[in-house]
Amino acid sequence: MLSLFRRWHIRRLLRQPLDNDRTQWLKAHIAAHQKLDAAMRRRLEQIVAVMLARCHWEGCEGLVLSDEIRTRIAGHAAVMLLGAKDYYFDSVSVILVFPGIIRRHDQSNRSPTVGEAWANGGVVLSWPEVQRIGIQGNQHNVVVHEFAHHLDGRDGEMGGSIPFSSTTDQAEWARVAAIEYQQLLEDVRHRRATVLDPYGATNEAEFFAVASEAFFEQPNRTHYHHQALFDLLAKFYQIDPRLWNDH
Ligand SMILES: [Zn+2]
Repeated sequence: MLSLFRRWHIRRLLRQPLDNDRTQWLKAHIAAHQKLDAAMRRRLEQIVAVMLARCHWEGCEGLVLSDEIRTRIAGHAAVMLLGAKDYYFDSVSVILVFPGIIRRHDQSNRSPTVGEAWANGGVVLSWPEVQRIGIQGNQHNVVVHEFAHHLDGRDGEMGGSIPFSSTTDQAEWARVAAIEYQQLLEDVRHRRATVLDPYGATNEAEFFAVASEAFFEQPNRTHYHHQALFDLLAKFYQIDPRLWNDH
């Protein structure tokens, strides 16, 4: 019943054009929106429309969650689903947006952060960090990073062993990611410059999240220096960001 309603609701959302304000915000802030061809741009707008209507959004610590904030976050996340067939981040239980650095009020000693993805499906973002995406020279994308953790967790655990549809690709990912992760550890230890954010050397889950950031934000550079990794990410996301991004 629920899935019937889901299908009906999504079909209805896909048919409607995105309203003008939302289209303008995407145009102004989502680099892919400007560079995609008309059909792909329409697809991006459709994914945004579904995420806006079906994800549960909440502003925290007094942040009033405007339509612009939601549209810009959905726009960055939607780029990751351009190759997906029928997934709209439905299993994200809530998207929480904070007005600044996220400080934890629990007893844990973990440091303040700009984003998190929870095992129960929640994604947490700092709005100022989202606004920094795409500023020149900054290859970080907190939205891609946290939603990548979410996708990693869809197989039941967020450990960097992302779910592929083919077992051959799955095995190849395990092999290539292990080699690349060791290489990053080594490079970080010797303070060498890396294409992948050194934060990826924290553990395999962070490795996948920063590899996803590099894949979407600097696809040419990533392809040049990490081709095997790039090709597997292209299979996982079923898209090649070099189509619209020449960095
Ligand atoms: Zn992370």
